[in-house]
Amino acid sequence: MKPNFITEIIGKDLETKKNEGRVHTRFPPEPNGYLHIGHAKAIALNFGIAAQYGGLCNLRFDDTNPTKEEQEYIEAIKEDVRWLGFSWDDRLYYTSDYFQKLYECAVELIKRGKAYACDLNIDQTREYRGTLTRPGKESPYRTRSVEENLDLFERMKNGELDEGSRVLRAKIDMASGNMNMRDPIIYRILKSTPHHRTGNKWCIYPMYDFSHCISDSIERITHSICTLEFENNRPLYDWVLNALGSYHPQQIEFARLNMNYTVLSKRKLLELVEKGLVTGWDDPRMPTIAGLRRRGCPSEAVRNFCEEIGVAKFNSVIDVAILENAIRTYLNKVAPRVMAVLRPLKVIIENYPEDKTEDMEAINNPEDAAMGTRNVPFSRELYIERDDFREDPPKKFFRLSPGREVRLRYAYFIKCEKVIKDERTGEVIELRCTYDPATRGGDASDGRKPKATLHWVSARHAVEAEIRLYDRLFTKPNPEDSDGGEDFKANINPHSLEVIKSCKLEPTIKGTKPQDRCQFERLGYFCVDTKDHSSDKPVFNRIVTLRDTWAKIEKAIKG
Ligand code: ATP
Ligand code: MG
Repeated sequence: MKPNFITEIIGKDLETKKNEGRVHTRFPPEPNGYLHIGHAKAIALNFGIAAQYGGLCNLRFDDTNPTKEEQEYIEAIKEDVRWLGFSWDDRLYYTSDYFQKLYECAVELIKRGKAYACDLNIDQTREYRGTLTRPGKESPYRTRSVEENLDLFERMKNGELDEGSRVLRAKIDMASGNMNMRDPIIYRILKSTPHHRTGNKWCIYPMYDFSHCISDSIERITHSICTLEFENNRPLYDWVLNALGSYHPQQIEFARLNMNYTVLSKRKLLELVEKGLVTGWDDPRMPTIAGLRRRGCPSEAVRNFCEEIGVAKFNSVIDVAILENAIRTYLNKVAPRVMAVLRPLKVIIENYPEDKTEDMEAINNPEDAAMGTRNVPFSRELYIERDDFREDPPKKFFRLSPGREVRLRYAYFIKCEKVIKDERTGEVIELRCTYDPATRGGDASDGRKPKATLHWVSARHAVEAEIRLYDRLFTKPNPEDSDGGEDFKANINPHSLEVIKSCKLEPTIKGTKPQDRCQFERLGYFCVDTKDHSSDKPVFNRIVTLRDTWAKIEKAIKG
C-alpha cells in the first residue's frame, strides 16, 4: 500500500509498542444490501493494512437492525470479499453475537449513573435536542434513579413496553457543541420484526454508536477505520469505552469513495433494484461488486484501482474513467484477442475458391508472446463490421469503400469491387470484393500499405452470439444534480444498455465459459455472462471499450 496518513499512524504505534505491537482491523458491513466499489476501498484498506503489518482483519456483520437486514446479503457480502481476494479465515463475527454482552454493558452504564430510560417521543426528543446554534434541553426523565432505570430497561428487554414508548439514552451533555453528545439514544425497542439470526429473542436493539465501539473493543481491534462522516461520532465512541473502562481501539476516519456517473449508497442502489430500473444487484451497470464481477471486471483491476486512488482525509470525487482505465490496463496484459463482428456486413471474395478454407495464424496477445498463436479460418464469404464500410467515405474515413483496398487482419488485402443493395430499401447488404493472393499474412511484397486494417470473421465458421453493450448508468457526472427537482433516478441513462443479437464471432470462441474474458479486436474487452450464457446461445458483456469513447463524445457535444 502507498504510504498514507493511516500507515503513518500505525507506523508510529508500532514504534511506541502501543497495543503490544499488534495491528488488528475489521471490515464491518451492515447486511442491508450488496457491497459496492466504495466498500471495496474500505476492504482493500482494512485487509491490506492487516496484511502489510502482519496483523489480522475481522469480517464483522454489523447486524443490529432487523428491519433492514437479510441472510441473502450476508452470503453476497462474503462472496464479494472472497472474490476481491481477501480472507478473514476464522475471524467471522456478528454484532448480534454480542447482544447479551452489549445488554450487560448498558446495564453497567445505568448502574454507573451514565444511562437512563427516557419516555420522550420522537418529536419531543428532537425538540429537546436543540440545534447547532441552540443548546438542548434536559429530558425530564434524566434524573430517574438507577433502580427505576434498571427496572424500565429490564421491561424494555422483556418486551413489556411498546415500540417507541421508551429508549435508553447515554447521560452526557445536552449543551455539548457536538450534537452526537446530547444524550444519544443507545437502545431502542423493536419487537415486530424477527432478527435474521436471533429471531424473537431480543426486543431491544443497540444503536450503532453504542454497539460499534464495544464490538471493536471485544474483538481487541487496534485501529477502527471508518469514513469521515463518523468524525463527529468519535467523541461518543471514546466516551462509551471510557465510561465502561474497556479496552479502547483508536477510531481513524478516511474519505469515502465517491465516483461520478454513479451512486454509491446502498439505499439508492436498493431503490434501483426494487423499482426494476436495473435487473438486480448484479446488473452489469451497477457499481456493486456483484455487478462489476458479472460485467467482467477482474478483481485485480479493482484492487489496482483502490491502490491507485489511495487514501486521504478530504472528500473528493473520483472519475469513473480511472476505474475503467485500471480495467483496461490489466486486461490489456492478460486478455486473449479474438475477432468478433458486432454488426455484420457480408463480404464475398469473388476470386477466392468456393470450397477452400485457410487457417490464418493470429497472435493471441501482442503484449504477451507466451500466450502464443491460434488458427482462424478464412474463406470466400466473410463478415466485416458495417461501420467499416462507407459508400461515400468522408474525408478522414480510411476504411473500406468502393474501389479501395484494405487489409484484413492476419489474412489478405481485399478490394471492394461492387456494392449490393436491397432493391426496396437501398440498404447495403453485401460487398463483392477481390483479394490479392500475394498478400497472405497481411503484407504485400511490393510494399504497398493500405491505410486500414479490419477485423473479420468467416461466415461459414462464425459462432453467433448476443452481445450486451453497457454504458454509464447515469447521464450526469453527479446524478444527484437535478434540473426539475426530481431525484437521482431522473438522470438514469436511457441508453445504458444496448443488446445486439446476431453478432459473428470467430470459432475459436467455442468452449469459453462464464467469466472468461477476451478482447474483441478493435472493439473492447468482453466477458462471458454468468447467468444467461449457454454454449448454443453465447452471451457476452462488454466490460469496457478500448478507449474512453464517452469522453470523446462528450467533448464533441460540448464542442
Ligand atoms: P452506504 O452509505 O452505501 O449504505 P454504509 O456506510 O452504510 O454504506 P456499511 O455496510 O455500514 O455501509 O459499510 C461498511 C464499511 O464500508 C464501513 O466501514 C464504511 O465506512 C465503509 N464504506 C461504505 N461506503 C464507503 C465508500 N463509499 N467509500 C469507502 N468506504 C465506504
Ligand atoms: Mg452504515
